[in-house]
Amino acid sequence: AKDAGGNRYELADPDSDARAIDRHSLTNHLPGALERDEFFLEYQPLIRMSDGRVDGAEALVRWKHPVHGRLGPDRFIPLAEHTGLIVPLGRWVLEQAVRQACSWQERYGSARARQDRPLRVNVNLSPRQLHHPDLVQDTISVLEAAGVAPSSLCLEVTESALIGADEDELKPLRQLAELGVDIALDDFGTGYSNLANLRRLPATTLKLDRSFTQGLQRHPADPVDVTFVEGIVSLAHALGLAVTVEGVETEHQADQLRELGCDTAQGWFYARPASADEFAHDWAASA
Ligand code: C2E
Ligand code: CA
Ligand code: CA
Ligand code: CA
Repeated sequence: AKDAGGNRYELADPDSDARAIDRHSLTNHLPGALERDEFFLEYQPLIRMSDGRVDGAEALVRWKHPVHGRLGPDRFIPLAEHTGLIVPLGRWVLEQAVRQACSWQERYGSARARQDRPLRVNVNLSPRQLHHPDLVQDTISVLEAAGVAPSSLCLEVTESALIGADEDELKPLRQLAELGVDIALDDFGTGYSNLANLRRLPATTLKLDRSFTQGLQRHPADPVDVTFVEGIVSLAHALGLAVTVEGVETEHQADQLRELGCDTAQGWFYARPASADEFAHDWAASA
């Protein structure tokens, strides 16, 4: 009966074959994708809540797959992480994004008298990059080659990637932070949040996960979510950390998050991720 059950399940799930083929084709195409120049970046603005001005943008990688077309990072980052391709891919992302920041700063920096706060760029780091011995040197080289100040770069790392990290493992991030690179704890609030751990991490910003701001879309907002955001904001500020909120989709949400003291916001309410040119046209030029 067990076997029959298993077979029925397989028959009832024709997608599993398609998924296996899909995975196979992704695995085959991924190693050469960097050389074939199939990756590209989109940028999503980060908005300062106090005055609604743009602070910078998060770089998000996409893959123009020869067979499947445009693929989001959730489809291939885990695979790249697994195969190790994430290291050269991540370096490519960093280089592109930092060069882009340089070009925005050249075009819009001085004209807008924003020398005090030039447009910045956020780049995601995967666990494997984080533990790579060349991280610090690579990052410094990329910044120097582009002539961009360390404070114009924010590296986003997930909290879970830092779980259990000892002082030696945190050293590279600490060195980067000392140079002036911002370090954001991405997806904060998911996984194994350890508030006590927060004190010893070299982070400058908390990025509060979308799942915690969703309850603020409702009228009235979910009181538990309000309390949660309030608590995190006051804790973060007490520790000297800025708070960025992800997944802001409505004006109602944005208004509440501003009132709750969040510093920076990102989400579809402001803009979807788009090309560097679109970002420049829609945001940087009017900053
Ligand atoms: P993330 O770092 O948490 O990035 C935010 C994700 O939320 C992005 O998905 C973005 O498009 C999406 N998003 C932004 N605003 C909204 C909103 O208002 N509502 C909703 N529902 N979603 C919103 P995306 O681009 O598909 O990226 C997914 C994940 O892939 C990222 O999550 C990040 O973990 C990873 N990723 C993206 N680019 C890179 C990269 O260059 N390197 C590494 N290692 N990971 C990357
Ligand atoms: Ca991120
Ligand atoms: Ca995130
Ligand atoms: Ca996420």
